[in-house]
Amino acid sequence: MHAILTFDHYLGGGKKGSQARRKGCKLICKVCKSESPSIKTLTIHYASKHSKLTFDPKDYGFEPEEKKQKPQDKKKEAKTTKKYPTTEKIKAALTEFYKKNAPEKLDNIEKICTKYEGKWETLENALSKKFSTEVNFISMCP
Ligand SMILES: [Zn+2]
Repeated sequence: MHAILTFDHYLGGGKKGSQARRKGCKLICKVCKSESPSIKTLTIHYASKHSKLTFDPKDYGFEPEEKKQKPQDKKKEAKTTKKYPTTEKIKAALTEFYKKNAPEKLDNIEKICTKYEGKWETLENALSKKFSTEVNFISMCP
């Protein structure tokens, strides 16, 4: 950037100088033609000078950064949900539970585990209601 400025200085600046600068990597605001050295600066420029307009980086050949941030939201959701033991461990706990409470339904465990895999909290609630006892897979699994 220093080199360009010095070059302009030798040319005497003026219109020729500003045209030469436009050919560089600087970004020109499409609204008011003012220059910004980077997309960040241009974003700030839009926010302060053209706050009524929506700044679209695509107009300047930049991809919006929002897309990259989406996976982080999923991580946040995962943090709020309980950490359950593996399906195998829950299956073992369920077997013990059914032996005590409903031995005739032992054959259903495989089906139940397939149906509720990843939705263990729903299964806990359903079993708690059905057998009128508190079912907690996390405490049931060693
Ligand atoms: Zn502008």
